Order: sequence, then C-alpha cells, then structure tokens
Amino acid sequence: MINITFPDGSVRQFEQGVSGYEIAKSLSNSLAREVLSINVNEELWDINRPIEEDATIKLNKWDDEDGKHAFWHSSAHLMAEAIEALYPGTKFGIGPAIENGFYYDVDPGDEVVITDADLPKIEKKMKELASQKLSYARKEVSKAEAMQFFGDKGDEYKTELIDELEDGTISFYHQGNFTDLCRGPHLPDTSPIKAIKLLSLAGAYWRGDETRKQLTRIYGITFPKAKMLEEYLELLEQAKLRDHRKLGKELELFTFSQRVGPGLPLWLPKGAQLRERLENFLKKVQRDTGYEPVITPHIGQKELWVTSGHYAKYGKDSFQPISTPQEGEEFLLKPMNCPAHCEIYKSKPRSYKDLPVRLAEFGTVYRYEQSGELHGLTRVRGFTQDDAHIFCRPDQLKEEFIKVIDIILYIFKTLDFKDFVTQVSLRDPEDKEKYIGSDENWKKSEEAILAAVEAKGMDNVVVEYGEAAFYGPKLDFMVRDALGRKWQLGTIQVDYNLPERFELEYIGSDDQRHRPVMIHRAPFGSMERFVAVLIEHTAGKFPLWLTPDQAVILPISEKYHDYAQKVSEFLKNYDIRTLIDERSEKIGKKIRDNELKRIPYLLIVGEKEQESGTISVRRQGEGDKGAMSMDEFAQFLQSEVQNQLEAINTDV
Ligand SMILES: [Zn+2]
Ligand SMILES: [Zn+2]
Repeated sequence: MINITFPDGSVRQFEQGVSGYEIAKSLSNSLAREVLSINVNEELWDINRPIEEDATIKLNKWDDEDGKHAFWHSSAHLMAEAIEALYPGTKFGIGPAIENGFYYDVDPGDEVVITDADLPKIEKKMKELASQKLSYARKEVSKAEAMQFFGDKGDEYKTELIDELEDGTISFYHQGNFTDLCRGPHLPDTSPIKAIKLLSLAGAYWRGDETRKQLTRIYGITFPKAKMLEEYLELLEQAKLRDHRKLGKELELFTFSQRVGPGLPLWLPKGAQLRERLENFLKKVQRDTGYEPVITPHIGQKELWVTSGHYAKYGKDSFQPISTPQEGEEFLLKPMNCPAHCEIYKSKPRSYKDLPVRLAEFGTVYRYEQSGELHGLTRVRGFTQDDAHIFCRPDQLKEEFIKVIDIILYIFKTLDFKDFVTQVSLRDPEDKEKYIGSDENWKKSEEAILAAVEAKGMDNVVVEYGEAAFYGPKLDFMVRDALGRKWQLGTIQVDYNLPERFELEYIGSDDQRHRPVMIHRAPFGSMERFVAVLIEHTAGKFPLWLTPDQAVILPISEKYHDYAQKVSEFLKNYDIRTLIDERSEKIGKKIRDNELKRIPYLLIVGEKEQESGTISVRRQGEGDKGAMSMDEFAQFLQSEVQNQLEAINTDV
C-alpha cells in the first residue's frame, strides 16, 4: 500500500500502482468522469499513469488550469494527427497548450501551403478521429530510439529538440497513427474532445529565430461541450468589437506610420490628452505620497549599461549602439530608467534619515521586438513607463510595499478594474545559488512582501516559488477585464542587484556605510499597455473624468450654431470638454453618429432651447434626460466627475 496525500492534507491508503483515475473513481463516479490530469508531487501526470510511491496529489478538472492544459495539449496532438493524415510528410515543430486553446507549428513541405480555407477540412478530420476514442499512450524511450524514430521520419525539428534532451528523460505519446515527442500529460483518450474550432493561422519562425525557417502556426480551441464552444466564440466576437487597435482608430486616439517605424505609436490629440490626464492623475497621487519627479535622457553611454549588467544580458538582442561621428563614443537607447535613477541617488551623500528616496519619472524606453511580435499598443518598440524607484532601508520595506499596493489598488478602483489576482514571486528555496544577495536580505524582503499583502487583507493572492527575478522577489497584479481576460499590469520588484552594481550607500545611525534596497514599481506598467487594456475593458467608454470629449453639442440646424457656440463657451468655464457637430445632417443622424463615438453626453439645441436658455440632454446609451439650464448641466456633470474621483480619494 502507498499513502496518498490530498490537497486538504488528508491521507488515504491505496494499492501501489494506483492511477489518478482510480483514485478519482474511489471518491465518486462524477469526479472520475471529470478528472483530466493529476499533479503528483507537483509534476503534471496522465490520470492513467501508475503511482508507485507515497505521493501528494491534486486531481485537475476543467476549471483547473492544469486540467484544461491536458485537454488542449491532447487536442494539439489530435490536430497534428489530422494534419499528418491530410498532408502526409508534414514535419512538426512544437505544439503546446496556451492560455486559450493550443497551437502547433507545422511544416507541410515547400510544395504545400495550408491556408484559412483548409481549416474546416482539418477540423472535420479531427472530429472524425476524436470520435474513434483513440487512446493517448505514453512510452519512455531512450535518446537513441527517439533519434532513430524521428530521423527515419525525416523530421529535423524533432531531432533538433531531442538532441538537447538528456537521455532517460524522454517520452513519446502515441494516439491512432500519430507519435509525438512529448512530456505529457494527456487525456486517457480522444473521446472527451467534443467541440473543435480552428481559429487562425500565422507564420512563426522555428524557435523564434528570424534567420530560420518560417513554419505555419495553426491555432485552435476545443471543449468538452458544444455549448462551451458557442460561448467562447461569442466572447471572441465581443473581443473583436473591443479590440484596442480598432477602437483606437475609430476614437482617434493613436496611429502607427510605417514611415515613422513599426512598433512606434503616434498618439493623436485625443489620445495624448487622455494619456496626459492619466499621468496627471498618477502624478497627483505620487505628490501626495512622497515621490519626487525626475527627468533623465533617452540615451545613455554604453558604459552605463555595462555597469547595470543590461548590456551583457540583452545587448545582442537590443537596438544596437548609436555612435558619435567624431569622438567614437557609443550610446544606447535606454531600455529602462533604473540606472539613471541610481546615478541621481548617488548625486549626493545620503543618510538613513533621508530614506526612503522615491524618484518618479514617466520615462520613455526603447526595446527591440521582432516585427512579427508587434501588436497594437500592447507590444511596441518604444513605450513610456510610469516608473519610480524607491531607495530605502531594509526595515522600511514592508511599509513601502504597503504604500505602493495602496496606489495600485487606488488606480484599479478609479478605473473600475474590480477583478484582479496578485502573484507573489519568491525564490526557489531549493536553488539559492541562482539568486544574488544575502540569505538574510532575501528572507527580510520576502517576509516584507507577504506581510504587506496580509496587512492589506488581499485575497486572490498566489504565491509562486522560483518565480522571483535573480535580483529580488516581486509582486505582480493581473487584472481581469470586462470579458474575463487576464492582463498583467502593475508590478513591484525588490532589487539587491543594482544597488550593488552602482555601489549605492547611505550612512546609518551607526555611522557606518550601508546599502539601500531598491524597489522598482510601475502601477500602470506602461502608458501604452494600460491604455490598450483600458480601451478593451471599457469598450472605449471611458469614465467621464478621463474621456477625451465629455459632451457633444448638436445644433438642430445651422441657425443654432451661434447658440451651440455659446453653450460650449459656457461649459468651458467649468472645465467641461465639448465639441460641436456642425455638419448639415438631420438631427437623427447626428445623434446616431455621435452615439457611436462613445461621447458620454449629447446636448441638443434648437429653437426651444435657445429661447429658454436650456439644452436637451441625452446620456450615451441611455437616452433622453430632459431639458436643463446650462448651469444645471454644468453642476450635474461636475458632480458626476467629483463622485468618480472622490470615491477614491478617501482611500489614499
Ligand atoms: Zn505533446
Ligand atoms: Zn526599474
């Protein structure tokens, strides 16, 4: 008998060789039907793989990431089998499960091109194979055996992967006529895969290397029920309507120019104003919480990046140095603001009484991304971080963390991100060698983060061991938007590395020199990414305080343009942002067109309004709110803005 420990800590005995499926079945038949994969001592396994020793387990169903993972990974193999059947001789790269579904990178040979038009055919084949209830069978193989198999098959992608694996760790999975190099885990068989949709195609360089062959990446998603697929496709439709690239264009927020360069966003007036409003909002919070603004240049001498360690680590994959015509100096576009802030810290002697020093900058940085990886405002080559660096004493860490968490929560609240997850990334306790900094410091900072999270009473906190950066632990915030999609936004990171490299010091109360701890933090992440997420979250209907135009004035005919102008001037005195639609269109069309622009208020003015000095007010998406005097409307709108901002101010 062996001891099996369950997630709740309870222990039960089973016969040696028991499988996850059998354990589930011993608990209930319905669980056995639903279980998709099992964690055995933190390793992800097939549910029919025998467990030979005492183990701690977790059974994963559809609602567990690890359950879906096995389902979608199995679906990737199923798609590969279908492709191999339809396009014999196809070679396969990698085919992982991803956040939503799976993909496989395939090379059907130089003569064959797989296009969107072929996806239904592949889908059909997958359905046919799935219904045959083909088992996924695991087999451990030697490296030589693995090489032999894929060598004979002529699949140089797989042999390249095998070459990098250690003998004794290699496994194959077979189902039907298909065999893959794979770690698993998989479903016991293909029958649970009931609903299948292949979504799109893309080119993908083998191993992400532009100098190597471009394979065809096929994305798909599968579900155990047809209804789940329907719901997912509906969500995709919704997401398309909210796509920030589409809305950014419609709302005239930003654009890109191939001539300026790929991945370099151009903020249009409305977008720039919106961004400025966000920046001012954060600047105010930062002023109130003891940050000092600084400004640093967009380039820095190569030496600076050698000192920071950036050059050695990323130099090859970054924008290459800029050199001066005469002196032969070399400069790098700045990929991060931290080194310059370290130099500002160093610009004068610091005493323990001066700390914490909090330096903030909306700093624009440049990072090279392959052109194929660029995506709207979420993957760009130049972006502005709402960056700040806090230099503090180790005993101040917890308090500083709490203050940064406060700012992040304040921002989420103001912008209506109600649903978020927090991840604490700590050191791998088994592998301390990997990390820089003393044991004692790590212990202090990890405890400080956990204590800060606890002090804020945050639920939804995930603690991940081994996910810390080599230079320090961190806290990340992932928000869920209106469609339930996860986005990584704010981050707070402890750093022991840069203070060391830049030899930062302060004089302690003991008159000795000490190293300060550095915290990097960016509540928005970057302005570009944040605005993209905000657009998709709100579908372009920004909160009133933030939105570029708060009201549009619609004169019924040309006769009332002067009155419209008067209304606009009046509201301007109250800092209310308006536009006038002076087109000679019928009022019905003007209303319809402006509703689509997501401007919160539509103000209609005609003869009646002009005579009584009023405006007829409509709320976007809600309809008629009746007539108001200009003064009434100004008060009404101002109090709405005030409410949005005040709800928050009480917390910081
Ligand atoms: Zn696989
Ligand atoms: Zn930094």
